[in-house]
Amino acid sequence: MTATLQTKKLRNFIDGDWVEVEASTAVINPATGEEIVQVPLSSSENVHQAVYAAKQAQKEWALVPAPQRAEVLYRVGYLMKERKERLSQLLTMENGKVIEEARGEVQEGIDMAFYMAGEGRRLFGQTTPAELKDKFAMSQRCPVGVVGIITPWNFPIAIATWKSFPAIVAGNAVIWKPATETPIMAYELASIFEEAGLPKGIMNVVFGTGSTVGDAMVHHEDIRIISFTGSNDTGRNIAAECGKQLKKVSLEMGGKNAVIVMEDADVDLAVEGILWSAFGTSGQRCTACSRVIVHEDVKSTLEERLLAEMEKLTIGNGLDERNKIGPIINQKGVEKIKSYIQIGKDEGAKLLAGGYEWKDDSHQDGIFFAPTLFTDANSSMRIAQEEIFGPVVSLIPVESFEEAIKVNNGVTFGLSSSIFTKDVNRVFQAQRDLDTGIVYVNAGTTGAEIHLPFGGTKGTGNGHRDSGVQALDVFTEWKAVYVDYSGKLQRAQIDVD
Ligand code: NAP
Repeated sequence: MTATLQTKKLRNFIDGDWVEVEASTAVINPATGEEIVQVPLSSSENVHQAVYAAKQAQKEWALVPAPQRAEVLYRVGYLMKERKERLSQLLTMENGKVIEEARGEVQEGIDMAFYMAGEGRRLFGQTTPAELKDKFAMSQRCPVGVVGIITPWNFPIAIATWKSFPAIVAGNAVIWKPATETPIMAYELASIFEEAGLPKGIMNVVFGTGSTVGDAMVHHEDIRIISFTGSNDTGRNIAAECGKQLKKVSLEMGGKNAVIVMEDADVDLAVEGILWSAFGTSGQRCTACSRVIVHEDVKSTLEERLLAEMEKLTIGNGLDERNKIGPIINQKGVEKIKSYIQIGKDEGAKLLAGGYEWKDDSHQDGIFFAPTLFTDANSSMRIAQEEIFGPVVSLIPVESFEEAIKVNNGVTFGLSSSIFTKDVNRVFQAQRDLDTGIVYVNAGTTGAEIHLPFGGTKGTGNGHRDSGVQALDVFTEWKAVYVDYSGKLQRAQIDVD
């Protein structure tokens, strides 16, 4: 039986209460065009209420020993595990990704819960020798206070867990603004936090648009960090505003990720990797492969095999287990993809497959796009430089390994890259020279594991990382502590003999 929501309209979760907001808009299932639920369009006043509650609650929470804070995350993990199928189905309904991928995304959240719960007994600082006699020195992590989390629609639950779980175990309180397109995961996760016994005011969910709710968070003086994942334009504006306030900001933004296929690659394996990373989530992943940099010796073989496998990809509602390609999030997304198909053609790339909006008799009201393959692209084309965020991949032929690395690095983004080769020397050269935050060898560009740092170089971010132990650096301040037990005043750098 398919999961259903008990309510027709979601409510904000503020200070442990479910708060109704009058204005709302519809959440649409992109595979069917049907309304699933109404989501509140909150005001900046709702943000102020949430921040006020969070600020009070955080003072107490910071005093709870971290291993006890972690107990809540363990319970959250178990509840998510119990509800994995329900969460996955609702995720597919609001976002469109096929159910297998939705289950993977929910699992990522479960993994993050247990991993970060473990951090409750680590949160390591350092003890280090002091330079003076009878003096003790150490560093420790401290919570920052109230943190603001702004998330996109393409990973409605995983990204929120990458951010909120480390924030909470570290002793912060959270204001979370999910994307208006995909609010259901936030609603479900807030309910899970409530059931898990998280004290009131530590997790607050405020639904609404970026321009109102997001903007109010960015400008609120009591929110000490903004952790944002989304597009480059929005991220840059947020960073500029946070810069003026000297507010910490962590940005995870777009990608233009490439798979390199060398002449000695296992081409069948490369085809599998490309299909999964280019067309999974209909290409709407920040790590999606949208360029294939192929050695000219294997170009025609790769094209042939890719085309043969692309024909087998079934498109349709993601709740049907047989489908491999789900919908595009909304009409605006499709229009953007269509504009890039035209750009690619005008630039002289050769369209080998797809390039059109897809519909069939049972999917008249959904929004789908056929898997698309361009070939004979070159690195300077816009289709090889800009994020398309759809199931569109462009083959760029190269003559050498060195050229492949240069083409990979010749974009403004630096999120993920991959190389297929059997040459161990090239493997090590590639992992050294590929200028991206994530590198895969003999696998596609997607598939991050939560205990490793996630993020990118150059225009993808601003040097922070989501997930992994590195996420704790975003949500903590370092404090250096010196304890002098000599009984006299000892001056550092001066009384040292
Ligand atoms: P987006 O339009 O930038 O939106 C992201 C979030 O920011 C949404 O919650 C949005 O709210 C909010 N927002 C919009 N304007 C805002 C403002 N002025 N102030 C504060 N918040 C604001 O991005 P998207 O289209 O949803 O997501 C796709 C992008 O995310 C792609 O570029 C993708 O590569 C990137 N992404 C990156 C990663 C990564 O880890 N590097 C992971 C996933 C996705 P509303 O939409 O509700 O208005």
